[in-house]
Amino acid sequence: MSGRTRAAIGLGSNVGDPEAALTAAVAALTALPDVRVTSVSRLYATAPVGVEDQAEFRNAAVLLDVPAGPDPETGAIALLVALKSIERAFGRRDRGRWGPREIDLDLLLFDDAAIRVERPEGGRSVDPEKAPRLLEVPHALAGERLFVLAPLADIVAEIVPPGWHETVGEARDRVAADEPPDAVRSLGAWDAEARRWEMVEGST
Ligand code: ATP
Ligand code: MG
Ligand code: MG
Repeated sequence: MSGRTRAAIGLGSNVGDPEAALTAAVAALTALPDVRVTSVSRLYATAPVGVEDQAEFRNAAVLLDVPAGPDPETGAIALLVALKSIERAFGRRDRGRWGPREIDLDLLLFDDAAIRVERPEGGRSVDPEKAPRLLEVPHALAGERLFVLAPLADIVAEIVPPGWHETVGEARDRVAADEPPDAVRSLGAWDAEARRWEMVEGST
């Protein structure tokens, strides 16, 4: 099969120069063979979640046009492998789940596919907090995290991901209602021509 499909990626960073890392990650995604970046969210400053004693994050989301693969599971794993290799190329070090990171690229949505791939026997991490599955799409925690939902709603507000009972925009509004107003702050919009975010004065 040679079809195409849409995939949404969540980006995050809080080590080094996070905005530069996210900008470079969008460029790296653009440069992947057979992949097109069709939409880029605003850039957000977000308070750390899970492990709170660490630097503030920058988060964003991008929509990709990618090969559908012979089946969604195979297509999504091929994309996950590409994301993981970009993380390594950007110098991401292993510091445990939810800790500081140079760059995190998570596969949030792969068309309307619901995918669960267990890790191969012997491939399980010794870290009990590590994500138990090799791949779960929609991303297991996306629906409860404002730092994911705010940028994701910029690019696909109207869709209801498989297994959800609300649109991405509705989920963002529901979760935002329980968060302090400054937990997730928009810093600027993507400038497609300049290929970077254009900061709004006074937003940092
Ligand atoms: P979280 O999954 O809570 O956002 P994290 O992004 O910090 O945590 P990572 O260290 O980046 O976690 O990834 C841990 C493992 O999660 C990866 O090795 C990958 O196999 C697995 N994983 C499962 N589902 C996904 C997904 N949808 N996108 C990215 N990684 C996934
Ligand atoms: Mg993550
Ligand atoms: Mg990750």
